Amino acid sequence: MADTARDPCPGDKNAPPGPPRAPMIMTLTCLSPLPAGEGAGCGHDPPLRRPSVVVARCARPRPVRDWRTGERRLIPCGRPRCSWECRDLWAGRMSAALRRSFRVLPPTHFVRVTALDAVSVGELTRCVGRFLRRLRRRGCEYFAASEWREGRRHHHVLVRADGDLTSAVVAELWRASCRGARVTSYCRRVASVEASARYVVKDVKDGSKKEVPPAWFRGRLFSYSKGFLAEPLKVLMRAVVEEWRAQARKRTGKHQPDNSSGVSNEGTQAEAGQPRQTEQR
Ligand SMILES: [Zn+2]
Repeated sequence: MADTARDPCPGDKNAPPGPPRAPMIMTLTCLSPLPAGEGAGCGHDPPLRRPSVVVARCARPRPVRDWRTGERRLIPCGRPRCSWECRDLWAGRMSAALRRSFRVLPPTHFVRVTALDAVSVGELTRCVGRFLRRLRRRGCEYFAASEWREGRRHHHVLVRADGDLTSAVVAELWRASCRGARVTSYCRRVASVEASARYVVKDVKDGSKKEVPPAWFRGRLFSYSKGFLAEPLKVLMRAVVEEWRAQARKRTGKHQPDNSSGVSNEGTQAEAGQPRQTEQR
């Protein structure tokens, strides 16, 4: 993954002054062709012309007033589909919100479900929906996240189960949800609640474990059952930002100035990457 600044073009110095532009760096994200299922097939599937690159840095930064200097500057938008940078910001906030919730209601099991056969995008979504409903009928609460590996989608699920949830039970539920397709699954007890919160949204340092959702994918990136989180996600997210902001204030020993400019007064790194709720899912 390239992550270097764009070389200046010879004509740039003559360009009219304007707001700073985000560097447009293209990186390869899909090294091999998609299987027949993902990327072609059913009615409203993605177009045949499949984008294979994503930008490294945010392409749509938003203006904020720096709380230390009072100056206007741009911070990344934090939308998970935007860029590598924004995907990482989103993952950091999501895992912090999950960890906050897990202090009260921790998950008990980590599950991965994958379809080996070529299953269309819509059908895979329906399979996962059936699987999650089966978990609910067994009294489990869940948080499920879509993840891509070389362009192929699979799902990770954090589960809170009353009793034990075995690999055999998960395999049976997943097979029954996929109606004859060849599938594979994995289930183990959560050893570290913190690590599970980071791993499920890939808030990890290892870049090889992460992939930005393909541009053609319009579905939800994650979903969760009503009783899985200790508080509504918006409340958890807000608390995370407040916590980070307080930590930043403590480090600098300064207080945030009043904002009367109409520009968002959220210029700490804590606020960078605060996506709108609807765009996370
Ligand atoms: Zn962005």
